[in-house]
Amino acid sequence: MHFEWNRSAVLGLAKEACAHCQGFGLRRSKGGPAVPCQCVLRAVFRACYNKFRECASAEKHISRVRIEQINGKEKKQTWGMKNEEYMADFCRTAERNLTPEEYRIFRFHYLLGADWKLCCSRLNMERGAFFHEVYRIQQKLGRVFRELEPYALFPLDEYFGGAVRSLPVKSNLLRMPPGRASKGLVPPLKKIA
Ligand SMILES: [Zn+2]
Repeated sequence: MHFEWNRSAVLGLAKEACAHCQGFGLRRSKGGPAVPCQCVLRAVFRACYNKFRECASAEKHISRVRIEQINGKEKKQTWGMKNEEYMADFCRTAERNLTPEEYRIFRFHYLLGADWKLCCSRLNMERGAFFHEVYRIQQKLGRVFRELEPYALFPLDEYFGGAVRSLPVKSNLLRMPPGRASKGLVPPLKKIA
């Protein structure tokens, strides 16, 4: 069973002045089913990424990852709390669905927080090519985040069981909590040297 993109699925997500869908959110291929406009997919990505940042910020204060020893051999991370689970889902889904080249950009830009200038110099890319790739990555992941089964990351309130807490997003995500860096979870948000 495939997720169906319809009016209610794009409600409130389309960009009003979108040149492709004029704010309608859906585009119809000739004779085919309705497809989500790129502006909708990017909106889904942005919502999921903002939530990821929010979780990463809250994570420093309220939760830890537990490392469990399974059968005395395999070390397995158990993500105890919903925020941690979400962050793990967000990262894993990206890694699984992007090509290695795309994931490299995703990691630098979204997980490590490098701005476009730093990304371009580190990844040896032109600005135009970089943003082209970033748009593609947003659209690709936006679609996956919504269509993912059995648990889509979006809508967030469904993922979080109707209890999405709105926490303020700290502006500086690159800062590690003092003295905590070696303990507990080290979020993938280290500053690039
Ligand atoms: Zn659009």
